[in-house]
Amino acid sequence: MGLSVKSYLSPEKLKLLYSAVISVFVMALLFILNGIVLKDGLRFLEKRYFDNCSQVLQGYSNGFQHYFENYNTSLNSIYDEELFEKGDGKTIQKWIIRNIKYLSPDFCSVFYVDSNSVGYFSQGDVIDLTGKSYLTPGNFKEDSYYVTDLFFSVYTSEPIFIIEKPYFDKNKKLKGILCASIKIKKLDKVTDHIKIGEHSTVYVLDRLGHVLTHPDEDFIGKVFFPKSEKYKNVTSDVTARLGNGYVETENHLGESIDLFYTQVKGCDWILCAGFPKKYLRSWFDKFKKIRFFIILIGLVSLALLLLVQNSISDYFYTNQLISPIYDPLTRLWTRQKFESEAAKILAKNSHGRFALIEADIRSFNMINQNYGAECADRMIFFFSQCLNKIVQKFGGIIAHGYADRFYILLRFYNIRSSMRRIEGELKFLESEIRSYAIPFFPKYGITLCKPSRMPVVSISELITQAGFAKNTIRNNSLANCSIYNAAMFEKLNEEQYIESCMEDGLKNGEFFVMYQPKIRLSDDTIVGSEALVRWKTKHFGLLSPDKFIPLFERNGFIVKLDFYVYEQVFKFIDSQIKKGNPVVPVSINMSRNHNDSAKFMQDFMSIFNRYSIPSNLIQIEIVERSVMDKDCLCDITDRLHKEGFSVAMDDFGSGESSLNMLTKVPVDVLKFDREFLLSSMDDNGALDEKSAKFIQSLIELSKHLDKETIFEGVETLKQRNFLKSIKCDQVQGYFYSKPLSESDYEQFILEHISHS
Ligand code: C2E
Ligand code: CA
Ligand code: CA
Repeated sequence: MGLSVKSYLSPEKLKLLYSAVISVFVMALLFILNGIVLKDGLRFLEKRYFDNCSQVLQGYSNGFQHYFENYNTSLNSIYDEELFEKGDGKTIQKWIIRNIKYLSPDFCSVFYVDSNSVGYFSQGDVIDLTGKSYLTPGNFKEDSYYVTDLFFSVYTSEPIFIIEKPYFDKNKKLKGILCASIKIKKLDKVTDHIKIGEHSTVYVLDRLGHVLTHPDEDFIGKVFFPKSEKYKNVTSDVTARLGNGYVETENHLGESIDLFYTQVKGCDWILCAGFPKKYLRSWFDKFKKIRFFIILIGLVSLALLLLVQNSISDYFYTNQLISPIYDPLTRLWTRQKFESEAAKILAKNSHGRFALIEADIRSFNMINQNYGAECADRMIFFFSQCLNKIVQKFGGIIAHGYADRFYILLRFYNIRSSMRRIEGELKFLESEIRSYAIPFFPKYGITLCKPSRMPVVSISELITQAGFAKNTIRNNSLANCSIYNAAMFEKLNEEQYIESCMEDGLKNGEFFVMYQPKIRLSDDTIVGSEALVRWKTKHFGLLSPDKFIPLFERNGFIVKLDFYVYEQVFKFIDSQIKKGNPVVPVSINMSRNHNDSAKFMQDFMSIFNRYSIPSNLIQIEIVERSVMDKDCLCDITDRLHKEGFSVAMDDFGSGESSLNMLTKVPVDVLKFDREFLLSSMDDNGALDEKSAKFIQSLIELSKHLDKETIFEGVETLKQRNFLKSIKCDQVQGYFYSKPLSESDYEQFILEHISHS
């Protein structure tokens, strides 16, 4: 199983992907909402609407019963038990005629039908009603009235209905029926009150489907037949048989309708209400418009959401409230992201074996200065792609850190074969790099780890180890790869210990300054000195700068130490002046870490101004391999000059210097590196002729450029004589003096000061 390889997305692509995911999510949400609102929602509303209509209709149907009962009560009021039991038809007819004025004015005729179907009418007629369908004894019940279907009056031919009240003898045999006929028109009183929605048509059917009431009187008394083919079966006689419910059909105007129907309480009639579908449809259309607005609102809020999200994330990134994930130059992860992901991988695979690699480019600072930032950036990008290719082959992870640094985590299954493989890959990479426009040389530090064996190890510790291993080949241009080992472990521990006590050391005054004289070759007198720091530690005793300066440069503590040294130097010179002792200029080292010339000047001057020393007694040694670029070095030199300080270029010719610098940065002094002399001498300390000529021409060149020259590390008379012969101005080295304590230095000045 390889490491989980992540694809390296650029922040822009990531944003795009994020936006796409959000969009898909919101769209899906919208469609789901749409579905719910439009399908289920509408279905729900439709059901509610149908239920409501049915309920309202049923409520109205009860209203009929109220009327029928009133009619029934009215009819019953002329019932006389004795008369109806004993009297014949004629007698009852007389009784009806006499009392009709007390009955409901809606009755157009009241009549009694005897058991032989002979009708005795309130109009005085006696008519044989045999065969009349409304005299259907089977339907009669005791103590109940009966409402007939539609009839046409035998007198006026108007459509009427009859309310019948049957009477039974003691043997429960139908004795006769008391009837009252009522004009269908009278039903308008009931139906006129029925209002269901704005566009409904309400009508009543009798049991056989005859239209009893209808807004269009032409339909009264008839069975209604829909005209269109689609609804041709939904005739009113069919509807009348259905009882309660709902059917799709057509109204008298030919509009398709939803027809609700319910049985009228108290009779077999059917109350119907038809709703033209077109109104319902327009209502649905409104809903569809709402859908459109829902989508529109959704899309607008989506756009706003993305805008807000992007601005928020930009705000967080620009204000560094969250650590960035991707490095903008290489599109690789940042170191922070790498550390967190690598930690997860190690935790998940505690029994695996891993290699953490730190890679960088030799003399990248010089490349940056000589070829420019843009070119250096292109190189970093090219290198990142080469490394990424290898990392992908191993299924590992990679990140780009500060400047030219890269971090890689690979899983190794078999240390030996994996190491062979990675070495092969790095060798191949070397050949690939050779084809690049500007030659550059990467170096790698590798540390191997097995999380189960060292469970407390953190990724930053592993990076420190890999970085440490890589640093061991800093000055060895023949090696490009170093593997962290036990000896390094010791050294790293030592460094870690040093790091742990540096702050206390500074507070407790463990750091002190020694002064190494600078001698003018023309008369062998002292013309200055260099302040060199020493550290008297409790644990390791006296430490020389090479033990702690490189470490302090890496952890940044050197900046603090520099200012501490400056203050010690100023204090010392100040005391010498106050004592009336002779003084010579002192050079102080400005470490490579200072990156802001304005800030440096501000801090420097605030210390300097605490003492009353002429500024020409202070020289600042700057180095080319500073984190400052060429322009910045020029700027700091100018600022120092303005305050009256002189500036020397330290370690000139130490391998990383460029002749370009010589003309560009306006330093006063060129301080030639000790290496210069060492590399020009044979084993017996004799200078070879070519090197001697080269050094001579450099001294001449410096003079042309109006720069003073000083050589450091002069140890022998031969060297001193040679430098004197080529008119080098000054030397600094063991030949004249090692770095001296304050009191020895005081003495040295007294003995070697020029009296001219
Ligand atoms: P550097 O600035 O090039 O200082 C000169 C170094 O050469 C000093 O080493 C000095 O003791 C040594 N040296 C002088 N003459 C001879 C000689 O004849 N033979 C040999 N073999 N060495 C000689 P030191 O004091 O160990 O300092 C080493 C480096 O540490 C310095 O190199 C400088 O880069 C850094 N350093 C020392 N003190 C300070 C300081 O106060 N601040 C900063 N930023 N760096 C310092
Ligand atoms: Ca120096
Ligand atoms: Ca030097």
